[in-house]
Formats: sequence, C-alpha cells, structure tokens
Amino acid sequence: MTGPEIVLALAAGVLAVLLFRQLRQLGKLRRWASQPRLSDPPEAEGGWGEVFNLLHRHRRAMLKRRRELARLIVRSRRGAQALPYGVAVLDADYRLDWCNDATREHLGLDPERDRSQPIVNVVRAPEFVEYLRAGDFGEALRLHSPGNPRALALQIVSFGDEEHLLLSQDVTGVERVEAMRRDFVANVSHELRTPLTVLAGFLETIQDLKLDAGRVRDYVGLMAPQAERMKRLIDDLLTLSSLEHAPAPPNDERVALRPLLQRVRAESEALSGGKHRISLEAAVEYDLLGAESEISSAFVNLVSNAVRYTPAGGEIRLRWNSTDAGTEFSVEDTGIGIDPEHLPRLTERFYRVDRGRSRETGGTGLGLSIVKHALARHQATLTIDSTPGKGSRFTVRFPAARLAPARQKVEG
Ligand code: ADP
Repeated sequence: MTGPEIVLALAAGVLAVLLFRQLRQLGKLRRWASQPRLSDPPEAEGGWGEVFNLLHRHRRAMLKRRRELARLIVRSRRGAQALPYGVAVLDADYRLDWCNDATREHLGLDPERDRSQPIVNVVRAPEFVEYLRAGDFGEALRLHSPGNPRALALQIVSFGDEEHLLLSQDVTGVERVEAMRRDFVANVSHELRTPLTVLAGFLETIQDLKLDAGRVRDYVGLMAPQAERMKRLIDDLLTLSSLEHAPAPPNDERVALRPLLQRVRAESEALSGGKHRISLEAAVEYDLLGAESEISSAFVNLVSNAVRYTPAGGEIRLRWNSTDAGTEFSVEDTGIGIDPEHLPRLTERFYRVDRGRSRETGGTGLGLSIVKHALARHQATLTIDSTPGKGSRFTVRFPAARLAPARQKVEG
C-alpha cells in the first residue's frame, strides 16, 4: 500500500470507529427515551452526555408538570363535587363533558352514560331548551319539573374557549320562604284593613252627619275596640320580629320563677274576670336561665288562650314540675278543645281553628307563633294534647341546661 492509501485507510478506520460510537450512543438514547418510567440517563461520552442530561432535565420537568396538572384536575373536580350547587361542564355545542353528584341529583345526569350527549337530550324541559336557544344567560332560569317536587334555578356561565358551565341550585326552600313572606304580608294587610275600614266608616259618619255629642261619644266608643285590635296586632308583630332578630337569650341570667308564675296566674285571673277556677301547682326547685320577658310572654300567651277558649265555669290548671332531666310547665283547660287535624298547623302565623271566635276574644292569630319562637330560643319544646269538647293541655319542656337550683320556693 502506498502512503496515501495507508492514510486513507486509517482515516476510514477512525471515521468508522467514530460512526460506530455515535450509533451506539443513538441506540442508548433510543432505548432510554422509550422507557415508560423516568430513569437516570445512561453513561455517555463527550457532547452526548450533555444532550442526555438536557433531555433528562426536560423530561423530568415535563413529568412534574404533568403530575401537577393531574393533581390540579383532581383538586378542581373535588372542589366542584364539594360545592352546594350542581356543576356540569359543557363544550361549545352544549354537549356534556363532566358533572358533579349534585347535578346528577338535580337533573338526573350521569357523567358516564351522558358524556358527549347534547344537554337538551338529557334535560328536556321546554323552558330549558328555550333558555339555551335564546342564549341570554344574565338571569337564572327557575325550573319546576313535572313529577319533581323540587324547584331548581339553572344558569349557564360561559368560560374559556366557548365552553360553558351549567350551574343548578335547589331553591325549594327559598321558594317556600318567598311564599311564606307573600302570605304573611297578605295576612297582615287583611288583618289591619278590617278594623281600619270600620274606623274610616265611623269617621266619615261623624264628619258627614251632624250628630249630637252623645251620639259622637257612642261612635267613639265603638271605634276604640277597633283601634285596640290594631294595636294588639302591631304589638304582636313587633314581639315576633324582635324574637326573630334579637341576639340569643342569655344562659347565665336567672329568671326567678316564683314571682313569674304568680304574675302569670294573676294575669290569667284578671283575664278571666272570675269566670274560671284557676289553680297553680308548683314546687319550684330550679330557676330558669334565659330572657325573662320572652318566657313570660310565652306563658302569658298560653294562659290567655286557656281563658279565651274555655267557657265560663271551666277550670284552668297551671303546673310547674322540675326534675334533674328537665322541667315542665303545663297549662290545662276544660275548654272547647282542638280537632287533631289542626294540631300540626296551630303554631303557624295567623292560623286559627275558628277565625270568628279568635277575633271576638281579642285574638291576633299570632299568640302560639310567639310561644313557639320564644321557646325555640331557649331550646324548649311545646307539646299540645287536646280532645274536642273536653279541653287541651299545652306542655312546655325546658332542657336541664336551662335550669339552676332555685333560690326561692313557691307552693300554689
Ligand atoms: P289566637 O290569637 O287566634 O288565639 P293563637 O296563635 O294563640 O291565636 O292560637 C291559634 C289557634 O289555636 C286559635 O285561634 C285557636 O283556634 C287555637 N287554640 C289555641 N289555644 C287553644 C286552647 N287552649 N283551646 C282551644 N283552642 C286553642
């Protein structure tokens, strides 16, 4: 071989070795890169080591980011699950992508079965279909599905790349409160309008007719009970309102029962005007902890009812009995009694068994509501036992936590 041939052969040999090495590194790279799990890069020489390290760092950062994203998705879904709303994710064509359990409950959606289904194929209520078609999502849609006692508020909120959230909320309770408020305002207006109409009528008569002083006095005498009725109603409304808004009654203030019970008895005797036999049996071993004015108002309402719904000659018994387990105050009468069908609704505002009788005796229809509220604020309960034509017993039970050993004793 000549000199140049030897040089060429050597150069070819070196190139072959270099090529072989590069191919070996490439092989290593392929094997390493195709491993599903991240492992340390293989040993490599020269520039390859740097490439491996760079790739390794890049892969590690990518895997970390992927793990973070997966965690974020899980967290967001957990967050969406925990919401007290139904949340469904819809794509640009309003097809279901995902929904939480509340949506399943509200709208019967199943995230697996209904995935990629147009939402209107699953929620078929015509109002909802129209809501989507109109595309004005500024306000929520109230939905009352036939056969479903639940009232729902549905709203579409758009986000990202023309994607949408369908939010649903159970508003059955809200609607009930709205209906109660409407009824309450209607009832109050009605209750006030009747005496006001009578008052206005008398005033007109006095103004238009030339009446002598005696007649005017007669008319004023007839007007006074109407004004008194309005005053009673407003007083009861204010009492109810303060019971609803006042801070919780104290649990470290003692209510001395001896004077309280005697006052309640005296009030019942004054109301009765001697027409009933009224007795008080009370061995007071405990005092009550709470707001005296509220407890007194509850007891006075109960005895006032007993007097008003018991014909003359009847009997009314007030009993106080306390043990370590709790304490009971009961008002028992031999009055007209209450039909069982009315018992569950008796403490509702303005609920009366006999409207005429209630009015005649100065009732506002709010007495037992006041009792219920005042007692609930003291964690006490009211039980009503009654037999029509025979009489009723209203029993108040206070929990042991509302008792403290009495400082005074009373026997009635
Ligand atoms: P009212 O002002 O009409 O008495 P309440 O809320 O105190 O209103 O009572 C509601 C209704 O419950 C009364 O209208 C009456 O029909 C009935 N009621 C309450 N207490 C008695 C009772 N002791 N005996 C018979 N009925 C009663």
